[in-house]
Amino acid sequence: MAAETIFGKIVAGEIPVEILAETKRVIAFPDISPQAPVHILVIPKTTEYANVTELAEGDPALLAEMIGVAQQLADEHANGDYRLLFNTGASAGQTVFHVHAHVLAGELEERSLV
Ligand code: 5GP
Repeated sequence: MAAETIFGKIVAGEIPVEILAETKRVIAFPDISPQAPVHILVIPKTTEYANVTELAEGDPALLAEMIGVAQQLADEHANGDYRLLFNTGASAGQTVFHVHAHVLAGELEERSLV
């Protein structure tokens, strides 16, 4: 079980965000500090999973649903191409321990992966 995080508060409606996509189990909203022309966070509504490894083990269908939402966002906000990033663990840059996919799109540095 992930500890209470800022994303849990966003899911609970305690912190307002612009919802860009929503399914029964997933929401997407813009990153507050965008690192690309399109930078959207896709998160599950459940607070159960701290990172993508836990999610893949616990509910792979939910992970697949998040990836479907990422594609939909890339279709709507860019040309359909996107980069998907899951920071996993503090030393890899993860700061919020509620699993989230960074969807990066637009004019990306061709081979810049960090
Ligand atoms: P991480 O570093 O854990 O992979 O990514 C966390 C992301 O959440 C960061 O890119 C950060 O800018 C974003 N973020 C943190 N707090 C908020 C917030 O309150 N609202 C939004 N929209 N994004 C946030």
